[in-house]
Amino acid sequence: MTNLPTKQVWHTLTTEEVIVALDVNPEFGLESWQISDRRAVYGRNELTGKAGRTKLSIFVDQFTNIMLLMLMGVAVVSAVLDLRVGSFPKDAVAIAAIVILNGILGYVQESRAEEALAALKRMAAPNVRVLREGKVAEILSAELVVGDIVFVDAGMQIAADGRLLESIKLKVREGALTGESKGVNKIADQVFGEDESLGDRRNMVFQGTEVLQGRGMMVVTATGMQTELGKIANLLQDVELEETPLQKRMAELSKALVIASLILVALVIAVGLWRHGDFVKLLNTSLSMAVAAVPEGLPAVITVTLALGTQRMVKRNALIRKLPAVETLGSVTTICSDKTGTLTQNKMVAESLFTANYAAQINGTGYEPIGEFAISRLAGDMLASDLNVYQCPEMQLLLAASAICNDAYLQKKPPTENQNNHHSQWKIIGDPTEGALLTLAGKTNLWQAQFSNYFTRVAEIPFTSERKLMSAIAAIQSMDAEDTPESMRTIASLLPNSPYFLFCKGSPELILERCDRIQLERQISSITISQRSAINIQNTLLATKGMRVLGFAYLPLDHLPTESELNRIENKLVWLGLVGIRDALRAEAAVAVQVSRHAGIHTIMITGDHQLTAQAIARDLNIFCPENDKVLTGQEIELMDDDELTEVARQTAVYARVSPEHKLRIVQALQRRGEIVAMTGDGVNDAPALKQANIGIAMGITGTDVSKEASDMILLDDNYATIVAATEEGRTVYANIRRFIKYILGSNVGEVIAIASTPFLGFGAVPLTPLQILWMNLVTDGVPALALAVEPAEADVMERPPFNPQENIFARGLGWYILRIGVVFGLQTIALMEIAYNSSNPSWHEHWKTITFTTLCIAQMGHALSCRSDSKLLIELNPISNPYLLVSVIFTTILQLSLLYVPSLRQFFGTDALTASELGLCFGFSMLLVLWTESEKLVSRWWGKRRTPKSIVKNQP
Ligand code: ADP
Ligand code: MG
Repeated sequence: MTNLPTKQVWHTLTTEEVIVALDVNPEFGLESWQISDRRAVYGRNELTGKAGRTKLSIFVDQFTNIMLLMLMGVAVVSAVLDLRVGSFPKDAVAIAAIVILNGILGYVQESRAEEALAALKRMAAPNVRVLREGKVAEILSAELVVGDIVFVDAGMQIAADGRLLESIKLKVREGALTGESKGVNKIADQVFGEDESLGDRRNMVFQGTEVLQGRGMMVVTATGMQTELGKIANLLQDVELEETPLQKRMAELSKALVIASLILVALVIAVGLWRHGDFVKLLNTSLSMAVAAVPEGLPAVITVTLALGTQRMVKRNALIRKLPAVETLGSVTTICSDKTGTLTQNKMVAESLFTANYAAQINGTGYEPIGEFAISRLAGDMLASDLNVYQCPEMQLLLAASAICNDAYLQKKPPTENQNNHHSQWKIIGDPTEGALLTLAGKTNLWQAQFSNYFTRVAEIPFTSERKLMSAIAAIQSMDAEDTPESMRTIASLLPNSPYFLFCKGSPELILERCDRIQLERQISSITISQRSAINIQNTLLATKGMRVLGFAYLPLDHLPTESELNRIENKLVWLGLVGIRDALRAEAAVAVQVSRHAGIHTIMITGDHQLTAQAIARDLNIFCPENDKVLTGQEIELMDDDELTEVARQTAVYARVSPEHKLRIVQALQRRGEIVAMTGDGVNDAPALKQANIGIAMGITGTDVSKEASDMILLDDNYATIVAATEEGRTVYANIRRFIKYILGSNVGEVIAIASTPFLGFGAVPLTPLQILWMNLVTDGVPALALAVEPAEADVMERPPFNPQENIFARGLGWYILRIGVVFGLQTIALMEIAYNSSNPSWHEHWKTITFTTLCIAQMGHALSCRSDSKLLIELNPISNPYLLVSVIFTTILQLSLLYVPSLRQFFGTDALTASELGLCFGFSMLLVLWTESEKLVSRWWGKRRTPKSIVKNQP
């Protein structure tokens, strides 16, 4: 083991001193043995501090639930009643046990859900770009060690503390540490006093802070718990289980039910006493009623359903970061999707090239730098000829510009075994647009690595989606050495005599605006109006083919510009030419657009590209139809106020040449129209739009850390189709929640009606004890309800319009169904009690309570099966398409029977062993409820057919 770097006051040291102290070569990075040594000592770069709620507080929370509080009240009263007559308070003990058991289950469930959510978040853990052993590599941020050379980019969340070695217009938001939300400008080559506060150590960057703009390079000085953030990590609130809108409404509903049932209790006692009833009997009745009215099992089933929903979504590559998104997804009415990478593959290939005198078509696939240039002269008759690139100085300069003004890396992966597809050996690190340009230059044997030696980059103005331009300033180096590549000498010979050059690329319109000269062969001339219009025509031509077009220009400089000169230097440029880059559509996106259209979800394309590029691609994807839809550009948005934008948003299918701040306005405009908006984003400046959207969606692969932090959901595959898949899952979850709500609450209403009627029917007792009711609500209703939660999606989930998320849970007939079924269930139970109680068969009379209890349980089994579909009859459903339900129905039926026939259970639950004829009575009566619900389906089908004219029945494509 060698000497490890010692702790220092890094911000007081110069970059050279830091490098020495950390024993790293900034041009090479750490060696692998250094990495393992350092990891062995300092551990992984992870914050281990506890986050979120403590275990204890999760546990305590289980008992602050109003339903449980009411149950405990019931237990106390029933204990008093039992003790008064000198018997053991069996029911009270049982209820207390159930309450505690329920609390423990709730605790387990919730901490598991929280852990699952934390694990999901870890899946989205950021990657960082480092220099190790002379190579640029992408690694997990947890693998960083002290001394690593890390590249810092706009949108990135800094992964460890570090001293900057290089900074280009770098601005960092350090809110996580200092609370200051404005960006701090960082400067690598300054040194600060020892007792400068954190916020003023401007040559340092700290873990957890966010890069707002610019670029830089740092050397890691501290990792994991040794970072500034690590020192305060205990304060971090990492994961928390947010309540979904539905959960909130259910909590309100439970509260209302508890209060209503207490009022009912008071009412029954008051009326009973007024009719000279026995107080104790009345109290017993009303306790049972209170327990019956409240759906004790419901919250747990909802939590589990949502958790399962997130798991199904992640299997389909949609990572949920905020639980409410699971529900909201089902109600999305508009998806605003980025074009590049989400609707397209983001595998860019440069296909066309125009300079003043030449046009070229380039073939080849992927990032492999092999392909031919088919070049023709534009002037005059456009005769095709056998030109090669080396005869076209304009083109050579353009290719040089594309390799110099470039932040990506093109790498050849070492060939792996059984790799017959040699194209995939080439990969890029960085922006695919820039990767495509490196490949293009490589096809003419111009290599980035050589340029960096002979045209060394000394300054740059970074690309942002707002500027849509990027410039690099290169200092030309001596080419006298023997081994100088010929290609470098040639490029230098084509350029005017200057020590520095600015190379600029970006949106063609913007570049052209800044040009007053043009490269013609080896000469620079002033640009004419007809040349400008020719360029515009070329641009339109490429864009209409759906290509992303980049313009190129350069500028000789006689000195290295100062910081303030840099701000206005991209002017009076020399035009070089255009490159058209093809980005193929994602095949699955076209299908998904179709699916979402059927589901009543609009798709809107948003891009920074040219309107014609956007329009061509949108038309291929069927997002845009020239007759009905509009394309709106960022410039047009600038000229509109919010009301105007809201008005035109109705028809706009494509937004082109937009900047991130337009995205925010687009979301707001759509929301003012009442749309529920899902919006994608990847850049640092997309965060406000992502937060504003009902569902903010970040890109898992290309997304910046800042956009991920702001999102509700992450697309692990950056794919539009995944959004549509997630909405389908969201709809299924919501449909299943409604399914078991109607199942559970229908039964509760029935129980209450049956119990409330008993004092008036002269049975002299309540048929069910609170314990038995609790058993039904938690077990015999709860288990099938859980199985209903995993009911597969109905075939038509994506064939109907989205539902308003603001709607009441009881909307669309659900409340009415619950009441109706409750009444039928209650009346049927009353009839059964009458028959059994008044039967001439003494056994039936004696066992009437157990008969009632058992029938209530068994009838719910049939009801559960019937609840699988609103429209399909039980016999039309495939019984094993939800095997869980089948198993749970059989299981709970056996469980219920064991309460009757296992002596100890019988004694505990206070039941009787039923005879065969009595069991027959139970099963027979249970069938009645199923017959009722099934007939309802038939009636509503018949009714629906009569009311829906043929014309609006959805016609299938
Ligand atoms: P999108 O939202 O579709 O990804 P961008 O904002 O990234 O669009 O790009 C908008 C425009 O900026 C492109 O049409 C292109 O002309 C230009 N552009 C894109 N990437 C770069 C880059 N790396 N350097 C210079 N210009 C670029
Ligand atoms: Mg982009």
